[in-house]
Amino acid sequence: MKDQTIAIHAGYTTEPTTHAVAVPVYQTVAYEFDDAQHGADLFNLAVPGNIYSRIMNPTCDVLEQRVAQLEGGVAGLALSAGSAAINYAILNIVETGDNVVSAPQLYGGTYTLFAHMLPKLGIEVRFAADDSAEAMEQLIDDNTKAVFVETIGNPAGNIIDVEKVAAMARSHGVATIADNTVATPSLLKPIQYGIDIVVHSLTKYMGGHGTTLGGIIVDSGQFPWAEHATRYPMLDTPEPSYHGVVYNEAFGPAAYIGRVRTVPLRNTGSALSAQSAFQLLQGIETLPLRMERHCENAMAVAQHLADHSKVEWVSYAGLPDHPHHGLAQKYMNGVASGILTFGVKGGYDAGVTFYDKLKLFKRLVNIGDAKSLACHPASTTHRQMTAEEQQASGVTPETIRLSIGIEHIDDILEDLDQALS
Ligand SMILES: *Cc1c(COP(=O)(O)O)cnc(C)c1O
Repeated sequence: MKDQTIAIHAGYTTEPTTHAVAVPVYQTVAYEFDDAQHGADLFNLAVPGNIYSRIMNPTCDVLEQRVAQLEGGVAGLALSAGSAAINYAILNIVETGDNVVSAPQLYGGTYTLFAHMLPKLGIEVRFAADDSAEAMEQLIDDNTKAVFVETIGNPAGNIIDVEKVAAMARSHGVATIADNTVATPSLLKPIQYGIDIVVHSLTKYMGGHGTTLGGIIVDSGQFPWAEHATRYPMLDTPEPSYHGVVYNEAFGPAAYIGRVRTVPLRNTGSALSAQSAFQLLQGIETLPLRMERHCENAMAVAQHLADHSKVEWVSYAGLPDHPHHGLAQKYMNGVASGILTFGVKGGYDAGVTFYDKLKLFKRLVNIGDAKSLACHPASTTHRQMTAEEQQASGVTPETIRLSIGIEHIDDILEDLDQALS
């Protein structure tokens, strides 16, 4: 089926006991065993079934299947936030003494995890000089366990040549992890281009209404973990914390995601609630429809600002003069999601004045809501960085990030114009 249909139906068939058409919210912590043997079989992964909602829940399961299908992966794991998804995606295969190679343009929270938290666990994150496959390749060595990118960087708006990066990493036997939050599978499916693991903040476009935090990891099922058992012993040797299971044998192509569920999630618990999964599923039903409008409105705003006398610069890869417009055409039919950055003439002070005059746009730190949103990264999301670090991640003092909503374009432009004037 096509995305528009998968977004509404995948992962759920009318529930047989009640015939409920909408996905039920399974608000339960535990699931009853038929008898002791049934319980033992469930724990041994010998029979499928539910045990405890920290590690699986039927409402979350629908969400996992739906997003996995949208991304073209074999399985997904829903988590309490996008940040948890990124953390677990890495900790699943990266240990003390290992390293991760990353593109430099990152979401602020991801940068903090990589630059300040993981190093304290003895995990080095090597930031490439730029977002090219060549720059990342230079940093790979025998201890590199993952290459990490954001398919569209937040807030930089750069577009990764995912096909090239995936092929480069695979040639070294290293797995790739791509954060597809800004693009969404509606615009770009990284797995089609060889990416091994996709992560999302479902909080943003996927949920789409600014009501619910959530994250997900999707496993492509394509990385040959067993062939690279020296690099990834955790998937090929008996797991002491889970009955000595060998993930490559027990889970086959879903070895990676099987381990995230039964080791990082089971033992540290960033589970998504059933109620949140339900809210996110509601949002996903209209994802393809909303993304069309987000992109259409963002393109109109980018063109309008580019022609405005009070605007110094506009960065949106949907515009033909953007250095990544070719990549936007290659991967996304020339559109580039609903986020753009720009600078008002007059630097920091003019930028802040503009920001304070907005009426329809909400001043906050979030993206991907149906509502139009504005953020000043230098004073908020990227505040903890030095000026050099900000520059590398695509933020200057005057940068304003807009997340263009799905309101009528006339009202969006009118608000921007009155704030600029
Ligand atoms: C928001 C965001 C995250 C973090 O997600 P939360 O759900 O807020 O934890 C990660 N990556 C990107 C690109 C984001 O925009």
